[in-house]
Order: sequence, then C-alpha cells, then structure tokens
Amino acid sequence: MGYDTLFFNGKNDSRMITAALAEGRVILTRDTQIMKRRVVTSERLKAILIQGDDPELQLHQVIDTLNLDCQFKSFTLCPECNQPLLERSKQQVKDLVPTYVFQTQSQYMECPACHRIYWKGTHWQAMTEKLKKFMKG
Ligand SMILES: [Zn+2]
Repeated sequence: MGYDTLFFNGKNDSRMITAALAEGRVILTRDTQIMKRRVVTSERLKAILIQGDDPELQLHQVIDTLNLDCQFKSFTLCPECNQPLLERSKQQVKDLVPTYVFQTQSQYMECPACHRIYWKGTHWQAMTEKLKKFMKG
C-alpha cells in the first residue's frame, strides 16, 4: 500500500517503542501488555490492538482505524526493506527475471537495497483486487 512499515519480532518491546516514538510510527500489536503501557495510555504513542486471526479482517481494521487511503502510492515500497522502488526498463531487467515474465510484463521496479525486481504479475493483481474491495466496504 506504499506505507512505511517496520516489523519487530516481539522480543524487545522497549526497542520497538523507542523506535516508534523517534520515527513517529503507529504500533500495530496483538500484545495487550503494550496497550497498558503509560506511553500508550497517555496517547504519547499511538498503538492499535489488532483483533482476530484473519489477516484480511486485520487489514480492514487498520485501514478503518487509521483512515488509510488504499490507493496511496500502492506498490511503491519494497515489502522486504521498506525502500522506495525505482522504475526499470524492460531491457534493464532482461537477464534478471524469468523468461515468461519478460515476455508478458512491460513495467518493472527494482529495490535499491536488496535489488529484488518487482512487476505487476498475478500477485500484484490479486492484491489490487483485495484493496479495491476494502475501499468499497
Ligand atoms: Zn528490498
């Protein structure tokens, strides 16, 4: 969706809270203990307690609560490293993508950090359909 995100594995809450405060981030968590911390109850740090186990419902909750724009720069950040993706020409990726992809896709993006190449294939189409559904709902 183009939103800058970081993943913490839950082993060091203090590090996560420090980073969230320093970088103006919102914490998304299943951990009720984090919601009880004074930094959260005092609203110095915004945190959302994620409900349920269904990832689609969870996404819907986050979109609703933060009033996110589903069309906000979709597919502009690397899902692995959070880096803005750079456009690449077909010729630039010729030897970097599978032949079938090269034959069927014309738009490519590259992550400057991990050098993964992205294109608007079936995964992209499925994600776009899901995001459209959220926008209507
Ligand atoms: Zn990357």
